[in-house]
Amino acid sequence: MIVLGIETSCDETGVALYNSAPWENNAPAHQGIMGQALHTQIAMHRDYGGVVPELASRDHIRRVLPLLDEALLAAQLELSDIDAVAYTQGPGLAGALLVGSAFAKSLAQGLKLPSIGIHHLEGHLLSPLLGISAPQFPFIALLVSGGHTQLMLVSGVGKYQLLGETLDDAAGEAFDKTAKLLGLDYPGGAALSKLAETGQLGRFDLPKPMLHSGDLDFSFSGLKTAVLNQVNKFLSTGVSDTQEIARFHADIARCFVDSLVAVLVSKSEKALKQTGCKHLVLAGGVGANVQLRTALNASAKKHGFEAHYPPVDLCTDNGVMIAFAGALRMLADNNGSTTSGAFDVKPRWDLASNNLI
Ligand code: ATP
Ligand code: MG
Ligand code: FE
Repeated sequence: MIVLGIETSCDETGVALYNSAPWENNAPAHQGIMGQALHTQIAMHRDYGGVVPELASRDHIRRVLPLLDEALLAAQLELSDIDAVAYTQGPGLAGALLVGSAFAKSLAQGLKLPSIGIHHLEGHLLSPLLGISAPQFPFIALLVSGGHTQLMLVSGVGKYQLLGETLDDAAGEAFDKTAKLLGLDYPGGAALSKLAETGQLGRFDLPKPMLHSGDLDFSFSGLKTAVLNQVNKFLSTGVSDTQEIARFHADIARCFVDSLVAVLVSKSEKALKQTGCKHLVLAGGVGANVQLRTALNASAKKHGFEAHYPPVDLCTDNGVMIAFAGALRMLADNNGSTTSGAFDVKPRWDLASNNLI
């Protein structure tokens, strides 16, 4: 079965074609990736310091059709080769989701194909199955993205249980807001991580929020405020030496990343212990973070579990994860697909409410 995937939940337009044959024959799932095309709107939103919903929707409209042509060309396929259309139904920006939904449903109806609405986070958390070392069910997913930070028990396709989540900022949001405080361009997560690599360990005593809270929830807004307080303190000293300023930025970035990573790793260890799972997958944009991967690898060695990662280019939003999740859902439960023409998006949507029974 060849599934077309369309992702338009936020500021990336992603289109991809996935062939489910390798998955069905127990071959590595990544062999099913036939072709993909992606456009990121980051440069367009940068001047505003964040995503402007109306601009995002309009840009998805402009991009989606040429990207479909590009993905088909990359896959060496024609429209007539497609068996089903999967699209991100939510959560995300309502207008942006509507573009993908309208496009996918219209195409499916025109080609007389079934369509299936996919939960964006399901796309993220199944994407480690496309990695070189794929996890086995059940596994714990640490989902760390721009809008979410969750620990999830994944017992199978469509079988998700939320174990804990952030009470305020998402990990990616904390990265981006802290990066902004240090004068880095939006979205500054990756740049902040790079800066941290040159910083000195432990120069600032930053909090590790909710480390000992006894549950699996997170909170990152206080950590960001602690960085702001250090920035204000530093500025009040009137230092003008550029080298000293650069050192301050690198050191505070290092301490921020260390605190955030320490909490993420500790809670992941706790979730594994609590459920008895031996596999952990990292998913979402912050999953591209090197410090987090390094710390999880060290923890895996120490505690005897296996850590799995999606390919780095599939950590942030893309069409492949939607095509892949669509294929797996269709195989697990054909009733999940529909030929209805209604444009039904869900800007707010709990993943577990969409479980297969
Ligand atoms: P959601 O999936 O919750 O709807 P989103 O789709 O906007 O949100 P993703 O595309 O999964 O989020 O991830 C984007 C986030 O990942 C941004 O906050 C970005 O700064 C962060 N990010 C990307 N690369 C890195 C990195 N190397 N280190 C830290 N953060 C990173
Ligand atoms: Mg994005
Ligand atoms: Fe995402």
